[in-house]
Amino acid sequence: MDTSQKKILIVGASMGGLRAAEQLRSAGWDGAIEVIGDEIHPPYNRPPLSKEILTDEAMDTAAALGKLAFRLKRSMADVSITTGNGAVAADLAAGTVTLADGSEKAYDGLVVATGIRPRRLDIPDAAGGRHVVRTIEDSLALRAKLVPGARVAVIGAGFIGCEVAATAIQNGCSVTLIEGGKGPMHRPLGATVAAAFRKRLQDRGITCLEGAHAAGFEVASSEGQQLAAVLLHDGRRIEADVVIEAIGSIPNTEWLAGNGLDLTDGVLTDQHLRVIGAENVVAVGDIARYPDPRWAAEARRVEHWATPGDTAKTAARSLLSQLAGGQAPEPCRALPNFWSDQFGLRITGMGAPALAEDHRVLEGDLADIDAGVAVGYYAGQRLVGFLSAGLSAKRVLELRAELEAAPVPA
Ligand SMILES: Cc1cc2nc3c(=O)[nH]c(=O)nc-3n(C[C@H](O)[C@H](O)[C@H](O)COP(=O)(O)OP(=O)(O)OC[C@H]3O[C@@H](n4cnc5c(N)ncnc54)[C@H](O)[C@@H]3O)c2cc1C
Repeated sequence: MDTSQKKILIVGASMGGLRAAEQLRSAGWDGAIEVIGDEIHPPYNRPPLSKEILTDEAMDTAAALGKLAFRLKRSMADVSITTGNGAVAADLAAGTVTLADGSEKAYDGLVVATGIRPRRLDIPDAAGGRHVVRTIEDSLALRAKLVPGARVAVIGAGFIGCEVAATAIQNGCSVTLIEGGKGPMHRPLGATVAAAFRKRLQDRGITCLEGAHAAGFEVASSEGQQLAAVLLHDGRRIEADVVIEAIGSIPNTEWLAGNGLDLTDGVLTDQHLRVIGAENVVAVGDIARYPDPRWAAEARRVEHWATPGDTAKTAARSLLSQLAGGQAPEPCRALPNFWSDQFGLRITGMGAPALAEDHRVLEGDLADIDAGVAVGYYAGQRLVGFLSAGLSAKRVLELRAELEAAPVPA
């Protein structure tokens, strides 16, 4: 195929967009690649936003970018990256995307890499005290508030909520974790493991409120938006100067509306990351909802750092084979995996623990997580995931190899 006059447009200039461009080049695409992003920054790494960026008083935008911006590979030299001008609409039948400034981009192939944004509580008031953590700006605005003595309420006890709670108390704040569900990281890890992590957070001074939901905010003065307290559904009042809403995410799909795609939760693709219902369009990263043949389960999104790279490998090859009218490559079979750092402990998860019906402690004791634990997750007799904490990198790799080798039902 003569690609010299053809163009692939990548919408989303973060990790997924960057990895897609790299993979297109490494798969042999020598036509034009244009990456479009709505943030004003070049692509940067997000995990430190809920960890070290929140601890450094001297941190500003330039310093944060210095730490977080991805170094561009040599193969990216002629890839155009436009920031601060996101996509607002697309006509996939015509092969065009409209940007915020009104300009239109035509493409031969399209990569959807617009990720997710934090879900917000549907409660008015106290805008001045309410925070989320997704961007450099979010993290720097929050860091300025996480000062010694600040009363912090974290709403939502997923990984990001737990990380921010741990960081805030280490900064000298008092911290209440309003869990919402059945315990820290309960949804992916299950009740027993969640209870052990709750105890670990409590032992370090965090007040954990099980099954509590925020129902309102009290402001400090009638005209002000300064926060005074979080009001819980059961009438309790939690005094707070700062609130972090960590209650999940919303995929950034609005710009794709009107094209007949399944945008129920992200962008539905087949197992080759090809967007279902469109020609020459693939999706990567947090926004892609794809079926993993390993689990023989429904398509799902995987919001982990490894996902943009893993999905980009398959998506780039799928797109190029579609453009050339060839066969689809192998399905994406990368093992989902994530890590979280809390109070100096590295927690890693792999596989699909959320699909398990049962879990068993295989190594160590949940009463002493810091001494090292491994938990196996099972759907019936089948091993579907591992959680480890405090284990050596070598041991984590061994667990990973064991899970990779676990039999897949026919
Ligand atoms: C605070 C934080 C901590 C994390 N920590 C960990 C961790 O410890 N371990 C782990 O495994 N994972 C972690 N993650 C998850 C990991 O960072 C994500 O999975 C990864 O960033 C996903 O990359 P992405 O490119 O798919 O999506 P995103 O990073 O969301 O990038 C999407 C980009 O597209 C842009 N965009 C949106 N709409 C448009 C539009 N219409 N036009 C153009 N651009 C648009 C967005 O602004 C953004 O720049 C963390 C995430 C966060 C936010």
